[in-house]
Amino acid sequence: MNTTSIIESQTLLDILNNNKKCDRSEISEILEKARELKGLSIDDVAKLTTVEDPSLCEELFATAKEIKQTIYGRRLVIFAPLYISNLCANECLYCAFRANNKEVHRRALNQDEIAIEIKILEKQGHKRVLLVAGESYPQEGFNYILKAIDTIYKTKNGHDEIRRVNVNIAPLELEEFKELKKSGIGTYQLFQETYHPQAYKTVHTFGKKSDYNWRITAIDRAMQAGIDDVGIGVLFGLADWRFEILALMQHINHLDTKFGVGPHTISVPRLEPATGSDISMHPPFPVDDINFRKIVAIMRCAVPYTGIIMSTRETPKMREETFALGVSQISAGSRTNPGGYAEGEDVADEAQFSLGDHRSLDEVIADVARLGYVPSFCTGCYRLGRTGGDFMDLAKPGLIRHHCDPNAVSTFQEYLNDYSAPETKAKGEALIQQVIDEMDEKPRELSKKMVEQVNAGKRDVFC
Ligand code: SAM
Ligand code: SF4
Repeated sequence: MNTTSIIESQTLLDILNNNKKCDRSEISEILEKARELKGLSIDDVAKLTTVEDPSLCEELFATAKEIKQTIYGRRLVIFAPLYISNLCANECLYCAFRANNKEVHRRALNQDEIAIEIKILEKQGHKRVLLVAGESYPQEGFNYILKAIDTIYKTKNGHDEIRRVNVNIAPLELEEFKELKKSGIGTYQLFQETYHPQAYKTVHTFGKKSDYNWRITAIDRAMQAGIDDVGIGVLFGLADWRFEILALMQHINHLDTKFGVGPHTISVPRLEPATGSDISMHPPFPVDDINFRKIVAIMRCAVPYTGIIMSTRETPKMREETFALGVSQISAGSRTNPGGYAEGEDVADEAQFSLGDHRSLDEVIADVARLGYVPSFCTGCYRLGRTGGDFMDLAKPGLIRHHCDPNAVSTFQEYLNDYSAPETKAKGEALIQQVIDEMDEKPRELSKKMVEQVNAGKRDVFC
């Protein structure tokens, strides 16, 4: 397989050139089509990227909000990243972990240290973790990752347990992906960083990651290995965002055509300042806040059933604005330095990049609830085998909400009973009551029953 079979850069540049100015009626027509929840073509997306006029922008945002509300309602899935190692053999000029960076203290957590981090996350109330590592493992090689996943699942105490481990690690060989699948992960996540081949070459100067092709074909290998929940993403700021989202669409269409299902999630990180990285301080193609909102809104219109993930790289204000536009998963209470949950965020010479949101999980939860969103710790789908195509078969006719809404409410109640501060609990329970009252009869009755079970002491209640 070569690069051109997945990303056709020249075609994308031509599409952008042919769609420099679109009239109002064309944009309105595309937004009308987006409201049908069937997704958009690459040409449609290219046209939406031209929207500048403030009133048209508002129309785009209103459409995205409507789609988000229809498909995801008030749910917002919560997770925490777990950085286990900052060892790395690559030279990605934007990342503090790059091999030549002498300003970062190198560290790979051992299994005991990983268990300590997990206990802390569990005590906060987390049920979903995203394991993150640089691309160089201690002596035992890739087994280090498999052992870490095993440690995370095994580290349990009473109600405290991690029920879903997603991973964001470097591309693997097919056989390694098969091992990863066997370890019981949820999603395999990998960002192309930039889909623009020249920009890619400029910022990845050596190491395995400098091979664009090896990376762009990684998600295919993961899917061939049976990992059908995959997450893709772009590190915005390295190339023109308009090109990047067309390329994202091309990547999604490729996966859809080849495997019958697109990615489960898309991540939209923006380049953040990182120790020892000039480029991260001065991104070549900075994305301002208004364009960032457009990116989220356009993707929500273009791929309505694919989750959009926002990390703690963004400030609370930007996170709040983009929840409404389409974000469906957020990290909370994060640290990007290995050992950061036990030792604190101020071990700056080990962190990957600086965070925009420094609040604790409970503070984030209280705020999310104040905004009317239901924080969800649900891990039901993947444990019931509702992944990949099976998930999309339920999602597309709108049936997945019959599971997600009750599961969000029951896992939120679990969090409130076991981990929250009293004020958060009061706010959260009022919200749960309101949300249940608004539901249709069937999910309402189911949700009430599930909440009752949680209040009676049962845990891990999902449908
Ligand atoms: N090492 C693996 C890789 O590169 O795919 C996985 C872990 S890497 C730490 C996870 C992601 O962090 C990268 O894919 C990149 O998008 C993101 N990242 C790196 N430097 C960043 C920065 N300065 N600001 C924001 N995100 C950054
Ligand atoms: Fe290493 Fe990943 Fe950072 Fe690149 S982005 S330097 S591969 S940790």
